[in-house]
Amino acid sequence: MLPEKILAWGKTRSCIRELAEYGARRKAEIGAENVYDFSLGNPSVPVPECVDEAVAEILKDSSDKPHAYTTAAGLLSLRKRIAEDVNGRFGLDIDPERIYVTCGAAAGLTISLKAVLEPGEEVVVIAPFFPEYRVFTEASGGVLKVVPAAEDFKVDIEAFKAAVSEKTRAVIINSPNNPSGAVLSDNDLGSMADILREAEERYDRTIYLISDEPYREIVYDGRSITSPLSIYADSIMCYSFSKSLSIPGERIGYIAVNSRMKDAGEVYAAIMGAGRALGYVNPPSLFQRVIEKCIGVTADISEYELNRKTLTEGLKSIGYEYVEPEGAFYLFLKALEPDAKAFSERAKKHELLLVPSDDFGCTGYVRVSYCVAGKTIEDSMPAFKALFNEYSK
Ligand code: PLP
Repeated sequence: MLPEKILAWGKTRSCIRELAEYGARRKAEIGAENVYDFSLGNPSVPVPECVDEAVAEILKDSSDKPHAYTTAAGLLSLRKRIAEDVNGRFGLDIDPERIYVTCGAAAGLTISLKAVLEPGEEVVVIAPFFPEYRVFTEASGGVLKVVPAAEDFKVDIEAFKAAVSEKTRAVIINSPNNPSGAVLSDNDLGSMADILREAEERYDRTIYLISDEPYREIVYDGRSITSPLSIYADSIMCYSFSKSLSIPGERIGYIAVNSRMKDAGEVYAAIMGAGRALGYVNPPSLFQRVIEKCIGVTADISEYELNRKTLTEGLKSIGYEYVEPEGAFYLFLKALEPDAKAFSERAKKHELLLVPSDDFGCTGYVRVSYCVAGKTIEDSMPAFKALFNEYSK
């Protein structure tokens, strides 16, 4: 007998994967330009020059050994650069010795959850949420506690308060959010922190706030982001360079444990243990060196703001409903019927690939990833209109 849950995760693909694979087949059949593929969160803007230049430079330097093992936590020189960068930008005091370089935010989350969870403890998430949170939590023996968001997809403070209990060990927040594009306000963060501090005292236990931040640079209308680590001491940052540098396949990111956390040393040790248990010695050594050279650089993410405008204005003029995304590169569009899967199937008939919201923990929406060429968005509008008209008959 194989472990049931592991087997199920392997056999059931997420709606996102299924749709992306369907899209690949369909593009081969009718040509890529005839399929409006809004399924994946694969960055569409070019990798900044700095990345390729760094790769060339590192490979030319015969004094270095770019393909050798590094320390498990990542090169100290890189961790120092990361600490300088986040401390300077967010007013934090992260210690390089509390940074653990990972294979992206996904590994950062997996490791952090494994480090803090005992079997049966609860992890609170706000729906809609990144579907892998469930797998990462359950793989560490935890139980996902889902709290529906407010109407604007931000946190419903009363519902959040009611969900935090003596079983809560962690809360995952993701701002800007995949799939809604919502950005938590300083007020939201402050209220959540108050609730968690109160619960820590009441239940005499630590509750960790895990901040999943792969989209933190992608914010619109001149917004700035406050780091949750500046608001709540028992917090852990999980970052990834996948989206800010358009390098998701290179698998590089980091965990930063808040220096103000009372048991930061112990938590960091547990993170080292959890990382060790994953079985990879260190994250990619070549890209650790690349990031060291490119820290603080971002790809030209202004294109996503332009895409947001084209998409939202086009859909609004047709009659679709949505909440304006404030960051990331996703639009959470209200489906034209209650069953999002059925709506997504009907959209496919118009060559529109839209991910149904069920896997994100709520019903009645589809996710439209607008990290695509601007022309794809423009060309897709007649298809969106035809789909809309089907429901208006
Ligand atoms: N968290 C969220 C909200 C994401 O959208 C993603 C990827 O799309 C991840 C984590 C994983 O990021 P990475 O691929 O860099 O590990």
